[in-house]
Amino acid sequence: MNGSDCLFCKIGSGEIEANIVYETDEVIAFRDINPQAPTHALIIPKRHIATINELEETDAEIVGKLFIAAGEIAGQEGFSEPGYRVTMNCNAAAGQTVFHIHLHLLGGRDFSWPPG
Ligand code: 5GP
Ligand code: ZN
Repeated sequence: MNGSDCLFCKIGSGEIEANIVYETDEVIAFRDINPQAPTHALIIPKRHIATINELEETDAEIVGKLFIAAGEIAGQEGFSEPGYRVTMNCNAAAGQTVFHIHLHLLGGRDFSWPPG
């Protein structure tokens, strides 16, 4: 799939609505439609990248920006302390269902480890 058929590309361009919590020229974050914690945001590059396996050296900066966004949203939401979970699933074994990379930011409750 390329960007033209991709749900998260459409959210990134504004074609499909989402509850946006953070946005820059390159990154957008919005609340997950099926939240697994009091705060559950999905942080994506606006540019289409299907999975972690497609990442290239030139993507290092945009991936870093996803984590910068996570820290900023955690501050906005008020859980920098005590802490929060960020995770990115890759392909079927990890449960990836939308093939446009997204960092899950989960906060507002305690999390167990291992995650299952
Ligand atoms: P994955 O399983 O690929 O790691 O995560 C995909 C996430 O996208 C899921 O947590 C799911 O609830 C969320 N999601 C799927 N469709 C939509 C949508 O249309 N809008 C929003 N905001 N989240 C969605
Ligand atoms: Zn996409």
